[in-house]
Amino acid sequence: MSGGGRTHRLELDDQTLREWDAIVLHVEDGDDGERGIVLDRSAFYPGGGGQPPDHGVLLWGGVQTRIVGARQRDDLVLVPHDDDPLPPVGTAVAGAIEDDRRSMLMRTHSGLHLLSGVVFRDFGALVTGGNMEPGTARMDFNMEAVPPDFKATVEAACNVEVEADRAIEVSVLPRDEAFAIPDIIRTATNLVPPEVEMVRIVDILGLDTQADGGTHVASTRQIGRLEVAKIENKGKGFRRVRLRVHDV
Ligand SMILES: [Zn+2]
Repeated sequence: MSGGGRTHRLELDDQTLREWDAIVLHVEDGDDGERGIVLDRSAFYPGGGGQPPDHGVLLWGGVQTRIVGARQRDDLVLVPHDDDPLPPVGTAVAGAIEDDRRSMLMRTHSGLHLLSGVVFRDFGALVTGGNMEPGTARMDFNMEAVPPDFKATVEAACNVEVEADRAIEVSVLPRDEAFAIPDIIRTATNLVPPEVEMVRIVDILGLDTQADGGTHVASTRQIGRLEVAKIENKGKGFRRVRLRVHDV
């Protein structure tokens, strides 16, 4: 599940890391205009599981290369801003993540897991999809009928769990052990490929446990206040919940 190729994925071990040193292993400067940078160590979340990639910067010898995305090939390839230069192979760089964006994405991603835990616990509904931008997100549920006051009820229940300040723990387990955890595969959209031997688990203690490669805050109070902005009926048994994350 690390999926970094030659790059050690620092953010999977330490979600609070924002600055680090690295060496450029490989540079892509294709005729098609596709440019990319491979580092030996990176804390840039490359995107996946509904969480978009980090933005940030590489600094080297007084030069700045902004990073605006990532491509997952055999290697994790960082995508530079079109206007910025590529550091040559072997260059020592200082990497930095744009903190505002990443921190809000962590709060938003944890907020979605909290929402899925609450909706499963209180309504028995399964997640069928989801997506997020910093501070806003949607999650789709398989739900035949929406009870009266569903929107207000879910929002209130979510904020009770925020206030409860449940710990959010990350662990990496062998596949067999991971899938022995009750409810671990109830998010049917995020099935882990069979070749993956170690599975990363994100656990909101007592509320929600998922196989997940994303970045999360350390406890539910760090999410902030959650607003259920809208419930949409997208067809038979298909309900879309739109979520917003606010500073308390
Ligand atoms: Zn997730």
